[in-house]
Amino acid sequence: MSENKIHDVLILGSGPAGLTAAIYTARANLEPLVLEGEPSSTGDQPGGQLMLTTEVENFPGFPSGIMGPELMISFREQAVRFGADVRTEKATKVDFSSRPFKVWVGDPAATEPTYLSRTVIVSTGATALMLDLPNEQRLLGHGVSTCATCDGFFFRDHEIAVVGGGDSALEEATFLTKFAKSVTIVVRRDELRASKIMQDRALANPKIRFLWNTVVTDVVGEQSVEKLVTENTQTGESGELVVTGLFVAIGHRPNTSLFDGQLELKDNGYLITEAPTSRTSVPGVFACGDVQDDIYRQAITAAGSGCSAAIDAERWLEATHIPE
Ligand code: NDP
Repeated sequence: MSENKIHDVLILGSGPAGLTAAIYTARANLEPLVLEGEPSSTGDQPGGQLMLTTEVENFPGFPSGIMGPELMISFREQAVRFGADVRTEKATKVDFSSRPFKVWVGDPAATEPTYLSRTVIVSTGATALMLDLPNEQRLLGHGVSTCATCDGFFFRDHEIAVVGGGDSALEEATFLTKFAKSVTIVVRRDELRASKIMQDRALANPKIRFLWNTVVTDVVGEQSVEKLVTENTQTGESGELVVTGLFVAIGHRPNTSLFDGQLELKDNGYLITEAPTSRTSVPGVFACGDVQDDIYRQAITAAGSGCSAAIDAERWLEATHIPE
């Protein structure tokens, strides 16, 4: 074990949910330890998904908007100012079967855990699935987006494309028609996965057109998106689609693999919490943010749920032990 100390609060993740939980628990003198994660090629991102966006205009309190990374740096500074211990480390294993809870960093086969804590707040977020195109990451935030609610406004009178055939894609496309001149939904099969009501709405929208049996093979542009390279899945024929925006809406993956077998998960992989609280299936372990939210997935809802988790953890500690 790297430390003998038993922490009161250990927070896994450093997006809006985790850092809000850190601010609140730090201000409650609980000296939270935050494992903010480490960047990786598989989408891990300290600071969460806002680190991958450009301008955020819907976070209340910033009438002129704020850049996503700047907002998250401010969250972090605020948490540190009140005494949160934020470490650039990633948990590799947890054991919630007995208290204090055990968390490993580094070799998960190590017999001794790295950290012990009386409560754990899980805020490991979700990762938007991407298409893995050669130029997709480079143009993320420069025409490539995974969030229409966040970025749609920047595409007023633009021609844009949405990739996907589920409810998310149709919802995003319908929302985007408020701004865009036209929205082309690129569907890899000749039918949609989305619910009938969403299909009817999209099919009836004069600004939406469908490009069936088509996959996007690359996104082209120097500074921002200029066009897409496509391929017909039936004929193999390649083509181009001239758009200035590419919204990828092929689903999200909650970052819950660490908790498999430890916490109850929904069928879709998201953590189950006892609404309206942040309580998970293990007393003393709380969850907030996108890791347990498959509906709203907004920075402000994540921050709000982080506050709830902090208060739940504080009350649980009060009820179960007297901090040293
Ligand atoms: P889904 O998994 O339902 O759909 C993903 C879509 O993306 C599918 O059409 C899939 O194609 C397509 N896709 C996946 N990978 C690729 C790829 N590499 N290239 C091209 N297309 C790809 O995810 P959603 O995010 O749409 O929905 C998740 C859940 O959230 C669902 O249960 C949905 O009902 C729910 N939801 C509900 C909403 C509402 O009720 N208003 C709004 C948004 C989501 P294929 O069909 O060929 O597999």
